[in-house]
Amino acid sequence: MALIVQKFGGSSVRDAERVMNVARIVTDTYKAGNDVVVVVSAQGDTTDDLIEKAAEINKNPAKREMDQLLTAGEQISISLLAMAIESLGFPVISLLGWQAGFNTNSVYGFARIKNIRTNRLQAELAKHNIVVVAGFQGLNRYDDLTTLGRGGSDTSAVAIAAALHADKCQIFTDVEGVYTADPRKVTSAQKLDEITYDEMLELATLGAQVLNNRSVEMAKKYSVELEVLSSLNPVPGTIVKEKIKMEKMLIRGVTKDTDVALITVIGLSDNPGVAFQIFSKLAQRNINVDIILQSVGRDGTKDLTFTVSQANGPKAVELVEELTVSEGTKITCETNVAKVSIVGAGMESHPGTASTMFEALYAQNINIKMISTSEIKISVIIDTEDADRAVSAVHNAFLPND
Ligand code: ASP
Ligand code: MG
Repeated sequence: MALIVQKFGGSSVRDAERVMNVARIVTDTYKAGNDVVVVVSAQGDTTDDLIEKAAEINKNPAKREMDQLLTAGEQISISLLAMAIESLGFPVISLLGWQAGFNTNSVYGFARIKNIRTNRLQAELAKHNIVVVAGFQGLNRYDDLTTLGRGGSDTSAVAIAAALHADKCQIFTDVEGVYTADPRKVTSAQKLDEITYDEMLELATLGAQVLNNRSVEMAKKYSVELEVLSSLNPVPGTIVKEKIKMEKMLIRGVTKDTDVALITVIGLSDNPGVAFQIFSKLAQRNINVDIILQSVGRDGTKDLTFTVSQANGPKAVELVEELTVSEGTKITCETNVAKVSIVGAGMESHPGTASTMFEALYAQNINIKMISTSEIKISVIIDTEDADRAVSAVHNAFLPND
C-alpha cells in the first residue's frame, strides 16, 4: 500500500461537476488500496474575487486581515470536496491548514512553512480516512492565519508529501503536463515526459504557470518526485525529479514573463560603492532585482540598468532618486518590456546556444535590450509587443515542428 498526495488547482474544482470529477479521481486512487491525502486550492477565480472585494472597501488593508480573508477560499473547496467524496460512499475528513498542522512564519501574504505537525494527519490516515487539506495556508506562532503566496497550494502539497514521506506527489491541473512552451500560444509545443528540478525551477521562475517555484525548490530539497498531470484527461503527465535520462533536446522550454519593469539610471558617478548603495537600499525594502547591467565607466560616469517586477517599479525609482538626487542622474522606468527565456541543462555543454537564439530574434527583426545568462538559461529583455513572436521564433529554432 502506498501513500499518495494529490493536489488539485482552482480550475480542477471550479464548479460542482469538476468537484465530482476530482472526487472520482481521489476515490479511484483510494479504491486501488492507497492512503490518500488531497490538497486543494480555492475554486476557480475565488482568490482573485476575494482580493477584489477587499479592494472595494480598503485599498491598503492590513496584511493579517487579507490572509484572514483569503484562507476562506480554500475552506470552501475542502468542505465541498469532502461532501462529494462522502456522496460516493467513502470515509473522508477535511482539514484546514492549521488542523493539518501547518506552522509558518509570520510574513502575511507570503509566509514560509516552518514545519508540519503530522499527528492529526497520521491519526486520520490510521482511521482509513481520505484526508482533504486546504492548500495555501497555515498558522503562525501568534495563532493567526497566514497564506503562502499566490499559487501556494503546490507548496502545501509538496510539504505534506515530504513530511509524511509519501510515495508519490501528483499535481493535477488543467493541462497535461509541462510543455516546451505555452501550448495555447505555440502550436508545436511538446509535452515533456520528464524534467529535472533545476530546469523546472528555472521555467517556473521565468514565467511558466504550471508549478509554483517555491514548491519546486522544496521538492528538490526533500527529493519529492512530482508528477504534473491533467485532472480532465487521464494520460501520463510530466515527472519532475533530480536526474532524467539524457535526451537529445538541447533546450526544454521557452518562457515569457511580461511582469517586468526596466529601470535605467544614466550618469552615475564612476566610483566604488555606487552599485552597493543602490542595491542594498532596494534589498532593505524587499525589492527583488532580476537582471543587472552596468556600462563601462567613461568620462567619470557610468549607467546602470536593472529589472524588477512591475509592482516594484515606482518604489525602485523613488529609492534610486533619493540616493542619486545630488548627482544629476537621469532615471527612467519602462514597463512595456518582457523577458523571453530558454531553459535546458543541455546548453551547459553546447556552444552556440545563445547565437541560435539571437539569430532567431534577428530574423524577426526583434531588438534585444538586455541579455542575461546562467548555466542552464538565457534570458533576453525585449518589447512586450514582440514577445509572443519571439517565443514562437525561438521555439521553432530549437524545437522545429516536424
Ligand atoms: N488559491 C490560491 C491562489 O489562487 C492558492 C493556489 O491556487 O494555489 O493563489
Ligand atoms: Mg488559485
